[in-house]
Amino acid sequence: MKVFKFGGASINSIERIKQLAAILQNYPNEKKVVVISAMGKTTNALEKVVEAFYQGRKAEAAEWFERIKRQHQDTAKYLLVTNANETDIRLSHLFAEVEWTMHDEPARAFNYYYDQIVCAGELFSTTIISAYLNEKGIRNKWVDVRDIFRTDDHFRAAGIDWPVTERNIREKISPLLDEYDLVITQGFIGATDENESTTLGREGSDYSAAVLGNLLNASEVTIWKDVEGIMNADPKTFPQAVVIPELNYDEIIEMAYYGAQVIHPKTIKPLENKAIPLFVKCFLDPLLPGTVIRHKATGKLPPIIIVKNNQALLNLHSKDFSFIEESAISQLYRFLAEKNITVNLLQTGAVTVMVCTDDTNDNVNQLAAALSGTFDVQVEKQLRLLTIRHYTTPVITEMTEGKTIVLQQQSRHTVQCLTR
Ligand code: ASP
Ligand code: MG
Repeated sequence: MKVFKFGGASINSIERIKQLAAILQNYPNEKKVVVISAMGKTTNALEKVVEAFYQGRKAEAAEWFERIKRQHQDTAKYLLVTNANETDIRLSHLFAEVEWTMHDEPARAFNYYYDQIVCAGELFSTTIISAYLNEKGIRNKWVDVRDIFRTDDHFRAAGIDWPVTERNIREKISPLLDEYDLVITQGFIGATDENESTTLGREGSDYSAAVLGNLLNASEVTIWKDVEGIMNADPKTFPQAVVIPELNYDEIIEMAYYGAQVIHPKTIKPLENKAIPLFVKCFLDPLLPGTVIRHKATGKLPPIIIVKNNQALLNLHSKDFSFIEESAISQLYRFLAEKNITVNLLQTGAVTVMVCTDDTNDNVNQLAAALSGTFDVQVEKQLRLLTIRHYTTPVITEMTEGKTIVLQQQSRHTVQCLTR
């Protein structure tokens, strides 16, 4: 059996939902579990609802939610004929779930409400799509994944309870697959043992697909995206970017680590553990081969270019010209951990340490203040971190031309240049 995942962009119009149906028809007589995200930007819109609700702006929350409801009702109206009434009723039950949550004043933590409300996007989209597919003769069973994915109550970043989830899959999904060729369910969401909804972290549907793939021992997992496959650079900024036909799990983990936004990083481990190949394919042109990620060592890879903007460089100088010692470094790392700051590049010298991090919120300023007891601190912002895997000298030259390199680090496979 196969697991497919369709993201928000692949279902954000009537045409694209029809395209999803066409893709499924290319795989007849095959058992499939299809994981679907919320439509388009619904998750962002639901975030607005929660924020307004939690801050006591009830009317604004209601207004945002009305807009979301209307979008889904309109989509359902366009797509459905025979299943229209039944779907309308199902949707109104789901809408009511959200409205009940917002009925009283918030009494619990923000993240709890976030999950109770934001989880709805995936429930709406899958309800409509499942009904549409059934109407088109693509017989399927809709499953509320909150009855399957058991998680802890770490709201907004819930961890999967693997043994319980595995049992649920064995007892509830496997029998359905005997009866149906197609099961439609949600990515991104789960529930605690007290039936509170949870979410797995933004963009978490890839991970949901991987967990299902692992526990169902799928022959493959396919993520359908609006790109031709995984490319060696962002085609928006590098028109010469090419599709990489084949990668191994390690390479994709490295790419995610250096900041390539290709697949949710948690997706790989569940697949790697069972050697399940991951395909990234283009839903706009399903005949394109796309990219396959698997165990097998791959052939020669093109240079892979990853750019992270908005970088800050902290230049830490020892106060009394004493050598930078391990105790100072360990203090630095303690602060980084406390402030939840990820280091993108670090270099130590005799009396200086240079640390490059993302410049988000006020993190860098807070870190600089915390470190100023131990070091003389200078901060430079608005830098760009360029990482090239499988680099060649001409590519480094081309990519850094006309720029001042503030810091450069090179290992056998990877070069990183922080530029101004
Ligand atoms: N709908 C969720 C999000 O936008 C999950 C996902 O798309 O993977 O983050
Ligand atoms: Mg998405």
